Amino acid sequence: MKYVTKFRSPNYNSRKNSKIQLIIIHYTALKNIEDAISYLCNKEKKVSSHYLISQNGTIYNLVKDKFRAWHAGEAFWQDSTDINSISIGIELDYSPRGKNNKFSLKMLNSLKKLILKLKKNYKININSIIAHSDIAPYRKKDPGKHFPWKSLSSSKLVLNTKKLNRVKFKIIEDWFDNHNLKLKKEKIILALSLIGYDTRKVYQNNKLYNQLILAYRIKYLRSEDKIKNKSIYTVLITHLFSFMLTKS
Ligand SMILES: [Zn+2]
Repeated sequence: MKYVTKFRSPNYNSRKNSKIQLIIIHYTALKNIEDAISYLCNKEKKVSSHYLISQNGTIYNLVKDKFRAWHAGEAFWQDSTDINSISIGIELDYSPRGKNNKFSLKMLNSLKKLILKLKKNYKININSIIAHSDIAPYRKKDPGKHFPWKSLSSSKLVLNTKKLNRVKFKIIEDWFDNHNLKLKKEKIILALSLIGYDTRKVYQNNKLYNQLILAYRIKYLRSEDKIKNKSIYTVLITHLFSFMLTKS
């Protein structure tokens, strides 16, 4: 795979022996690729990403994988809060309000190839290919509600939460019962927490709970219209089951 390496960001430091475990997908929210390059390579901005993918599918490698790029900010996943040390950040040249407000086919093809390569190199599991909004659901929306997760799941880069059979569903339900979890909300929060989300403040705070649910729905229920109505419960239980089976 060919990368453009003539632009380098000074915004990184050492991973201090932390292993790469996650891939985080972002959008730049800037108006074009030139702005994105100069922003991510500007020392004063103190942000960066390992990769940046343009609308025409060019992949810019701004920070070497072995270094700790600064893309996650305040974040949480699977009990880790220093996400930059354990992740690779990929920015997409996309802004919801700009002319670059489409995820082009060329961009997505390059993204998939890049993820495949990183996944293989660092033995990253599909539960660990996630959104900025997964690790910071209370402050970040990217890559946003139009990002085609479905295309990634059909390429087996994201979990496909297709229907569970009844036996498997019952295994999880029984487990909840045995642990005295009765309320659907409690079960949902526990499932999200086991998958990796930061649920520390959502029991008491409904606004945060709704933000978390929205982040989850956008990714795994996908269709915008369905987002409002369909219960996430079945999808989440399916997800949890597959997650437990594929955890390595
Ligand atoms: Zn981001």
